[in-house]
Parts: sequence; C-alpha cells; structure tokens
Amino acid sequence: MARKRNIFDDFIELFFPRLCPVCGEKLSPKEECICLKCMIHLPRTLFGMNMGNKMEELFYGSVPIEKAYAYFNYKKGSDYQNIIYRLKYKDEKELGEYMGEHFGAELLNSVPFPKTDFICPIPLHPKKEKKRGYNQSEYIAKGLAKSFHVPVLKDNIKRVKYTISQTHKTRFERWENVQNIFKVINPVIFNDKHIIIVDDVVTTGATLASCATAIKSCCNAKVSLLALGIAKK
Ligand SMILES: [Zn+2]
Repeated sequence: MARKRNIFDDFIELFFPRLCPVCGEKLSPKEECICLKCMIHLPRTLFGMNMGNKMEELFYGSVPIEKAYAYFNYKKGSDYQNIIYRLKYKDEKELGEYMGEHFGAELLNSVPFPKTDFICPIPLHPKKEKKRGYNQSEYIAKGLAKSFHVPVLKDNIKRVKYTISQTHKTRFERWENVQNIFKVINPVIFNDKHIIIVDDVVTTGATLASCATAIKSCCNAKVSLLALGIAKK
C-alpha cells in the first residue's frame, strides 16, 4: 500500500487535490487512488463467487488453462472506464498497482487458487512499450504479486510481432491476428510451474490465449489468466 503520508502531502493537497478517477470527487487523505464509494460500487464480475465465469468461457476449446478471472465489467462510456484509460494513457501506474492488489486480495478470499510461481504481465511489443514508456499490465501484475506473495517475472515472454489495433476486427480476424506473436525466452524457467498472465482488459481473449499457447507449446507449465476488466463483445 502507499507510503506514510506526511505534512508536505497535506500541504500539496491544499493546492492540488487528488481526485477520484471514477466520480471526480476529492479523495480523502485516507483514500488511496479511488474513493471508497466508487470501490464499493465497482461493477465486480463476482466470477469468484460462482456467478458463472464468462472469462473462463472465452478459452473453452482453445487452450487448457487452470483459472481465469476478471475483476470488473468494463463498459465503454462508463465512469469506470477511466481506471483503464488513466492507467494506460495518463501514466497513472499506481492505479494499476492499487487495483491489482485489491483484485488479488478479493480473489484469494473468494476462491481456492492453485499455488502460483510467477505473475507475468502480458508483454507489449518493445516498440509500443518504448512509445508508451511502460507496460500498464506490469503495474497490475505488481499489485497482484503483493497479494499473492509471488514474484513478477516480466522478461521471459517476448512479443515478437507488432499487431495493429484489434478494435475493428471480427472475432475470427482477431484470433488470426494474434497467432504466434509471443515467444518464451527460456522455457526451463517455466517448466513445472504455475504462471499467471495478466492483462488490462480482455475482450475476445485472443491475445491472452495466444500467450498461453506460446507457453504451453514449449513448457510443461500450468497457466492462469487474470484481467482487471472484461469487455462486453
Ligand atoms: Zn469516486
């Protein structure tokens, strides 16, 4: 969680109040990244509580996975979309870490999760990461890792193909677009391990499935998939 606040923080906040990215209200000194009210009303999927798991359904018949969960329902135009937007485009990495940590804690509280060895952010293509300056999924992974008490491993999977935006593609085109885009650098590291791959938002699951397939094709590993948001197709 955040470092201890000091008097300087209070002083700075007088002039630059921290605002909740969801409702835009001023955060209280005790609130970290999102106000309590918005955290309570987060449109959780509750996949962890036997409400049916649409995230897991995305991977039926494509790649065998252990577990797949998303934290909340991602709807375009909703105020909650701002969480992903700020994390991805406004350099608000701490928002990803905060959400990841809460997601991890709630998940571990509600479902039995197999012993995990590594948490791996789904890699961006190096060119894209350079342009953005960071990989947003790495920060979600960092937050999850705090709750799971396992290390983040970010350099053993590489994105070897630059893919253009998936937004306007059909479901089939999306699956085709992401074939063979990932490569495992050292398969030995993943052997006999359970790995969680982390993404920000999952839509068709094609990218995550492609990453899981890359791992499964060269290592004897178990793979689970976690995303902060699941978008309606
Ligand atoms: Zn709020």
